Order: sequence, then C-alpha cells, then structure tokens
Amino acid sequence: MLSESGQSTVVSQINSDIIAINNAVLLHNRWLAEWNKKLICGLPISEEFIQSDAYRHCGFGLWYYGEHSRFTEDQDEFPRLGQLHISLHESVRRIVLKASENQPITEAEYDEFIARELEFTASLVNLRDALFGQLYSFDYLTGVYNRQAFYSLLEKEHARITRTSGVSSIVMVDLDYFKKVNDQYGHQAGDKVLAYFASYLKESLRPYDSVGRFGGEEFLLCLPDANVDDAKTIMERVREELAHQQIDITGADGKPLSINITASFGVSSISKRHPTSQAIETADIAMYEAKSAGRNCVKVYRYSAAEF
Ligand code: GH3
Ligand code: MG
Ligand code: MG
Repeated sequence: MLSESGQSTVVSQINSDIIAINNAVLLHNRWLAEWNKKLICGLPISEEFIQSDAYRHCGFGLWYYGEHSRFTEDQDEFPRLGQLHISLHESVRRIVLKASENQPITEAEYDEFIARELEFTASLVNLRDALFGQLYSFDYLTGVYNRQAFYSLLEKEHARITRTSGVSSIVMVDLDYFKKVNDQYGHQAGDKVLAYFASYLKESLRPYDSVGRFGGEEFLLCLPDANVDDAKTIMERVREELAHQQIDITGADGKPLSINITASFGVSSISKRHPTSQAIETADIAMYEAKSAGRNCVKVYRYSAAEF
C-alpha cells in the first residue's frame, strides 16, 4: 500500500529505519565526546556513565532497546551490534571509574576501548549497508521486489531447485487494459491500483511465494516447489478473485470511485534444465498467449521434448 508520500510503506519503513540509525549514531558520538571531555578536563563524571546498565539509557541504547521494524531486527548484524555496544560500555565504565578514583588508565585499557569503539562503528556501518541493500531491493511504488532483486531471487531459486532436482513455477502477470485506468482516472489513481494489485498478489499467495515488479504493470511470481499444473490451479483462483474485487480509490476530481481490473497470467517453470532467463522468457510467451486468447485468463508454457 501507498504511504502519504506516495511511496510504498515497505520503502518508507526502511527509510525511517535508516534515519533512526543515523540519529542513534549522532547520539553515540555525543556520548563519546561528553565523557572524553570530562576525562581530559578532569571534570566530575556523572552516574550515567558509571551505572552497570548505562548501555540501556544512553541515546544509542534508547534506540537499540526501543521499537524497530522487522527490517532492522531481521538483520544478522543487529544482535551483534547490541553485544558490541554492551562490551564498549563495559570498557568505558572501567576507564571512567578509574578516572573518578584518580587512578592512572593503562595503555592496554585505552587500546581495548579504541578497539571496541572501532568494532562497534564497523558493525553500525554493516547494519546500515544491509538496510540500504533492502531499500534497493524493493520497488518504490508497490513495495514488492524490484526487477533486479527478483532476478537474484530467481537465480537463488534456480540453484536450490538444481540441488533438489525439483521444479518451481514462474508466473508473468500483466494487468489488462491498464492504460485505460490511467486515461480515465488519472496517473495517480493508476499508481494506487498498481500498489493495490501488488499487495493483493502477496496476500493471495503462500508465505514462501514471492512477488516482483518486472516493469510498468507487469509482475513476476515465483512459486517454489509448485509444478505448472499446481501453479495453474493457484493462478486460476487468484485471477477469478481479482476479477470480483472492487478497488476503492480517489479519482482525479477527488471523488471516491470503485473500479475493477483483470489480469492475464503466463505460467512456466524453472528447473535444473531451464534456468532463470528461459523461465522468464517462456512465462512471457504464455502471458502473451493469454492476451491473445482474450485476456483475464491463465495460460501455461510446457517445454517441448526438444527443450528437455
Ligand atoms: P494490455 O491488456 O494489452 O496489457 O493493455 P494495457 O493497456 O495494460 O497495456 P499497455 O502496454 O498498452 O499499457 C500499459 C500502461 O501501463 C501504459 C503505462 O502508462 C502504464 N504504466 C506503466 N507503469 C506505470 C506506473 O508506474 N504508474 C501508472 N499509473 N501507470 C503505469
Ligand atoms: Mg497490460
Ligand atoms: Mg504490459
């Protein structure tokens, strides 16, 4: 679905996560500057640097132990960052306690703090890079995978299916007469219909199926471990339900309107012998066959004996 700014909620969520991390980095730098100044200028050091759970109350800790989207929490780097943050605080606590008791800080203690700070900073960069990677994987308008990310996903699926000697289905879906939606109701309404259609596809499929935007009003689906007959059955259901949906949008004149759309589906398969590019090409052939057959239908591409 679309957010106020017109981008998908997925993309705006990842964007907010990146902004929140940047803010947490600023707070961390301030924390660093503050206790360093106190130490170097011999100023009294407040409790907030000495408490054993100081890592939960510093600016960075408030972000880390606060709420995040699944995009941040699902990153492998996220738990590691938390551990590194705790050990950085332990190191700083030792230094600050010694300073407050007027004891000299050894070179080894200082080196340990620097090593932990560098590791912590590197981990932050990794987490932010991973989120940027996610940001560049999703389509800005619809929130499903973009073409490049979906191609990588299919390459992985091809590698997996090659190992298991199984078969998965690829489906090319193209909205019927979509140009008319834009012409009749305006481009913005067209955008809303695209975003609606993408979330409809995601919600209609199994959790382990994937949806990608191939271009304009064309989407690609990947149905792991489904042969073309299974995929045809699933797609018939999706097609039929779509044709009966009423999509509520706001027209160019600001008035609410309810429209319905249909789509043409082309099913093909990916397997050890039929790699990604061939699967996409043949799903496209099947989709064009569905267009030629009058649209709002599902066609299957079956590899000929020569292609096996
Ligand atoms: P067909 O049934 O043959 O597929 O007809 P169609 O009108 O859907 O196909 P055609 O290729 O003639 O037009 C596709 C339209 O999709 C034209 C283009 O303006 C529109 N479109 C592509 N990307 C976007 C987008 O991001 N937003 C909007 N609103 N429209 C888009
Ligand atoms: Mg179309
Ligand atoms: Mg098209």
